[in-house]
Amino acid sequence: MTAISTEHLFALFNRSKKNTENVIKKAPLGICITDPNGRFEMVNPAYCQFYGYREEELIGYHFTLVVPAAYRQQMAALHDEFIQGNDTHELRQEWEVRCKNGETRTIIAEAARIIGDDDKPRKVTFIIDITQRKRLEERLTQANERLIYMANHDELTGLVNRRQGLKRLEEELERCERYGGELSIAMFDLDDFKAINDTYGHATGDAVLQEVTATVNAQLRATDLQVRLGGEEFLIIMPEVSAQAAHTAVERIRQCVAESPCTEHKLTVTLSAGIACYVEASSTRMLDRADKAMYQAKTAGRNRVVIASSAM
Ligand code: GH3
Ligand code: MG
Ligand code: MG
Repeated sequence: MTAISTEHLFALFNRSKKNTENVIKKAPLGICITDPNGRFEMVNPAYCQFYGYREEELIGYHFTLVVPAAYRQQMAALHDEFIQGNDTHELRQEWEVRCKNGETRTIIAEAARIIGDDDKPRKVTFIIDITQRKRLEERLTQANERLIYMANHDELTGLVNRRQGLKRLEEELERCERYGGELSIAMFDLDDFKAINDTYGHATGDAVLQEVTATVNAQLRATDLQVRLGGEEFLIIMPEVSAQAAHTAVERIRQCVAESPCTEHKLTVTLSAGIACYVEASSTRMLDRADKAMYQAKTAGRNRVVIASSAM
């Protein structure tokens, strides 16, 4: 093996150093080095470009310059801990940062501890911009929440829809079966609603449905749930309410609706309701009994409330 001359070794060493410098300069991800006091000691071009600062606007300044005010203290404390070697927090973390133009962006930062030529520790931070991905994720989450909402609610009235309403009824029945307690439901249908549509048009019919929904909701307890079963047919689920108490409540609702003129046409709208209370853990059976009682209310002349008898 031929010995490498000192000059040659020196040249190789210089080249290696130059290469390292160039790699840092050309790196597509932002890199910075902060000193034990949290001040920038090195920032590469990608780092400057990402934050919109020139190198001389960063070097010597505290790194919290790029941290939103709300997190500055926390970030400075984490930096101290990292420098001291007590980094219990994740090395790879997501952060909100602030660019020179005030824009907030999201990054993933990964850190390493190195020792400087003064034998003191430094923190090297590598940052990856994930703002776009983050915004996309947020939009997807919102779209997902909207879809879930739409799947469970009725668009016109904002009430829980039939599918979700029946699910909630099943849950209430399970609760009654397991822990005892009472449960009543009321099914109601607007009287002669077709005539409103035929006389004033579908849009007025829609407005009536919205106004009645609001009138009924205003009369309910926080634990009660109004459901739009479909068309102008609704259900009220009343947990921990006896049939008699439900009758009183629905009778009050019936009166209130009858006394609240709807739309600019000041229409008098009435409803017929059937009430059933929990006797056995079958939602179909309970709905069927409430439906039969409601039918009785209709045939008895409408604008009234009937409690299902145990024989129904
Ligand atoms: P009854 O007293 O026997 O209940 O008579 P009714 O006229 O209310 O009953 P019917 O079932 O004959 O009519 C219900 C009407 O409700 C028919 C339908 O066009 C209307 N309807 C159902 N859904 C909506 C809706 O979302 N908007 C509007 N405007 N009308 C609706
Ligand atoms: Mg009707
Ligand atoms: Mg109907």
